[in-house]
Amino acid sequence: MKHHPPSASEAKQMDTTCIFCKIAAGQIPVKTVLEEPDLVAFHDLNAQAPVHVLVIPREHIANLAAATSEHEGLLGRLLLAASLVAAETGVRDSGFRVVINAGPDGGQSVDHLHLHVLGGRSLGWPPG
Ligand code: 5GP
Ligand code: ZN
Repeated sequence: MKHHPPSASEAKQMDTTCIFCKIAAGQIPVKTVLEEPDLVAFHDLNAQAPVHVLVIPREHIANLAAATSEHEGLLGRLLLAASLVAAETGVRDSGFRVVINAGPDGGQSVDHLHLHVLGGRSLGWPPG
């Protein structure tokens, strides 16, 4: 998969202590599914389903609560990328789930906005 190095404006927004900023900058190797100018999708290190892919913006946004109307277009592209990931990983027709954990009660463990794309098995509901 082609690697897009961060542009000056993207690099400026990088949080050097953030693991997902490092992944977006290509500083930590991941199994990439999709790379676009403003987002990256890669396999989760600790997969919770046969398909478990994370979609992240290259820009550091702490979580969904920190997103503003300025991010409206980006948020739309992240969702469309999640749908493309489902197609690319073969779960578009069998079904999949897109999850965004936010904050302590949401179970967020990495403070950089990310969408989980889960599929490849029947997923339980409601979440625990
Ligand atoms: P959260 O719990 O914040 O919603 O999701 C964070 C996710 O990031 C977890 O599923 C965790 O397994 C994944 N993760 C954390 N560090 C890394 C990493 O260095 N590489 C990859 N590929 N996934 C990671
Ligand atoms: Zn970050």
